[in-house]
Amino acid sequence: MQVYPMYIDGRPLTLSARREVINPATGEAFAAVSEAGAAEVDLAVAAARRAFPAWRDLADSAREQAVIRLAEVLEAAMPELMELVTLETGKPLHGLNQVGAGMEVGGAIAWTRATAALSLPVEVVQDNAEARIEIHRRPLGVVASITPWNWPLMIAIWHIMPALRAGNTVLIKPSELTPVATARFVELANAVLPPGVLNLVTGGAEVGAAIASHAGIDKIVFTGSTNTGRRIMASAAGNLKRLTLELGGNDAAIVLPDVDPQTIAPQLFAAAFHNNGQTCACLKRLYVHRSQYDTLCAALADLARSAVVGDGRAAGTELGPLQNPAQLAVVEALAADARAQGGVVLAGGHRLARPGYFYAPTIVSGVSNGCSLVDEEQFGPILPVIVYDDIDEAIRLANDSPNGLGGSVWSDDPARAAEIAARLECGSAWVNTHGAIQPDAPFGGVKQSGIGVEFGVHGLAEYTSIQTLKIMKKP
Ligand code: NAD
Repeated sequence: MQVYPMYIDGRPLTLSARREVINPATGEAFAAVSEAGAAEVDLAVAAARRAFPAWRDLADSAREQAVIRLAEVLEAAMPELMELVTLETGKPLHGLNQVGAGMEVGGAIAWTRATAALSLPVEVVQDNAEARIEIHRRPLGVVASITPWNWPLMIAIWHIMPALRAGNTVLIKPSELTPVATARFVELANAVLPPGVLNLVTGGAEVGAAIASHAGIDKIVFTGSTNTGRRIMASAAGNLKRLTLELGGNDAAIVLPDVDPQTIAPQLFAAAFHNNGQTCACLKRLYVHRSQYDTLCAALADLARSAVVGDGRAAGTELGPLQNPAQLAVVEALAADARAQGGVVLAGGHRLARPGYFYAPTIVSGVSNGCSLVDEEQFGPILPVIVYDDIDEAIRLANDSPNGLGGSVWSDDPARAAEIAARLECGSAWVNTHGAIQPDAPFGGVKQSGIGVEFGVHGLAEYTSIQTLKIMKKP
């Protein structure tokens, strides 16, 4: 079994303590990584600190070129990285609506190129006979990235690239469930970056906790669950680490009565079920006007029954397994609770009788807020469809959540839908689409879904602090 090394100070490091990596389509191990401890975190932080001054002092154009070289590294390794992403996450190579490992690696390349092209020019707020005042963006120092298991490589790239582009050095700890594609990328990246600029430590929650409390780290960028985000925020207080927290979502979509349910059903289905529902900004609660409710529920149930579920490496697979048995258990418990509360399972509602962590795509009607399937993030292939009678009620129900990542409104009248979308309490609001992200548009959560944004110049700025430089023209 292949063991993927950690990288510290430009050198591979493998420990005797190992953790196996499971293919969720089979339940069997296919690779292993080292299980680090606080000692390896110390070594990686020290390496990143040593590498920081030279990386910071490079010309901006040299860092831009380095990030472009990383895009080329990703591109050259695309088939291998796609295979690793499918093996460790279970997501299909292509998948429903082409959302799969190809999109993950392709997105990683696109985001890397787009981030290379970003810059944060000096702003001048005053320039007269008396003084010139400039606002500079300076890198923070050592940035630690902690990633989840649902889009492991893409999220790693979202963290690493702006951090490096802005002049920081990086330590990344991928999810212990999906460390392999990230480990392979870091290995390839270390062939083109100076030693210590990008370091990798593998391990579980204890390693994450050691990072969160480490005094040698200046910022943490974390994507994962809200509970872990709270723990990181508490531990980060010791040295006032800067934080970007991209946390859980429970996105609502509201369908207005003027839209044809048959037309939008496939788009809604893809928004809810791509990557088997295991995307932070998947559609997770669907509010439908009573006049369209039965037709839309039936159309979604048909789509759920006809979706091709299987091993992500097989041609034609649209949906893979859940990534891990704990998430499968969450989905099973939410389905059981919905049934107990009078929910009607229109499609699915059961595991598949095969090895691995497969669950049939599931549509549940007859539930509303107050049922755990609606109130909690399911992060799996089960969608509650909720009826409403008037739009103010729908908006109230959509906003009745501690989360605030994304939300959408579907209508033939985009201007009216945009007015309704503006009333949703979420960081990204969409009209006639859901979960649509791109490298130049900021993305982040409000309420318990996070702090800060990623992507574009707003995201890049989060890897810097402001230095105000006032130059008096005469002593
Ligand atoms: P998780 O919080 O369980 O784990 C995420 C990472 O945190 C892992 O690397 C884990 O090892 C580490 N970790 C665990 N305990 C830690 C601790 N005490 N201190 C520091 N690190 C610790 O999340 P997950 O189950 O891997 O991911 C699923 C969650 O991520 C969902 O809630 C999903 O909505 C969210 N998510 C959010 C976004 C977004 O952009 N907002 C994107 C993807 C996923």
